[in-house]
Amino acid sequence: MANIASEFALDVALIDACTTGLEYQNFPVKSQFCLTTSDRYLGGFFKGLKCPGGHTHVQPPENNEEIAPSKLGLIADKLVTGWLRSIEIRRKLDEYIPGIGYNFTTPVPQMPLTSDPQQPDDPNDPIRMLIAAIGAVAKVLTKAEIYANEKAQKAMDDEYYKLQNRGTWDIKRVRERQSVENDALAKGKKIHVGRVFGIGVKKGAELPDDHPDQKYKGRYVFDGRRGYVKDEYNATALFEELGSSPATIESSKIIDFYGLLSGNSQEDADADQAYTQALLRGTETWVILPKEHWPAHFHKYNCPIVPLI
Ligand SMILES: [Zn+2]
Repeated sequence: MANIASEFALDVALIDACTTGLEYQNFPVKSQFCLTTSDRYLGGFFKGLKCPGGHTHVQPPENNEEIAPSKLGLIADKLVTGWLRSIEIRRKLDEYIPGIGYNFTTPVPQMPLTSDPQQPDDPNDPIRMLIAAIGAVAKVLTKAEIYANEKAQKAMDDEYYKLQNRGTWDIKRVRERQSVENDALAKGKKIHVGRVFGIGVKKGAELPDDHPDQKYKGRYVFDGRRGYVKDEYNATALFEELGSSPATIESSKIIDFYGLLSGNSQEDADADQAYTQALLRGTETWVILPKEHWPAHFHKYNCPIVPLI
């Protein structure tokens, strides 16, 4: 890390862990973090995170998992606060702001979170300020709003039939739920039954109506919430809690880091309907499709379900 920092002329800040709320057995931990950044204002902010003294530290345990942040998210808050301060300083100095440019204006419209005008949102809440600075407001549409808007309806239909035509589920194998469950029980086979539901959003909802950047987007997802997926006994199905989120993959973070360095650039590519490109393995899974997309003959079944492929 030290080599990378000197090669790219990065700022290195040593942060006393106790300033970020890290505790072990209710005492502040005596430890340091290292933050390396190309943003000198952010670096300066983090260099200021030094132990104020006046409290007793404990040595962190060998197994770092036992250390608990006394306030979850405090480190993230500090990062966002530092970054926003950096933006604010650059704006005052008319400096270029990576990802934002020279003409940074704030605040962009925010969705109101309170109906009481006497109680404005805390303007110093870093997470709220971050959202305001980025200002990507996607408004979730109600069923009635989708129904009343042709563009929204088309976005929903396009997405749904794209998935169906790609063979995400097989409508030719439609059966009654009870009969599928009875079969599974008789064969001692594990199955899961869940539902597919749609989400419609208006992207750029903060823009005036019919602005070219305003788009309707439909999504259909498998409802994996606890309690919503049942097994052949109609009991809540248990999934393995896997930490398989791509966002945790270190190599991708390192590539992000490299791309963000001054003079470098970065591109990414999204696989078209990525999850539907792979065949589903593991426990056989059946779904209840949204009623508005049922073919006519589905209505003669009592709770028609189809297999995910
Ligand atoms: Zn301290």
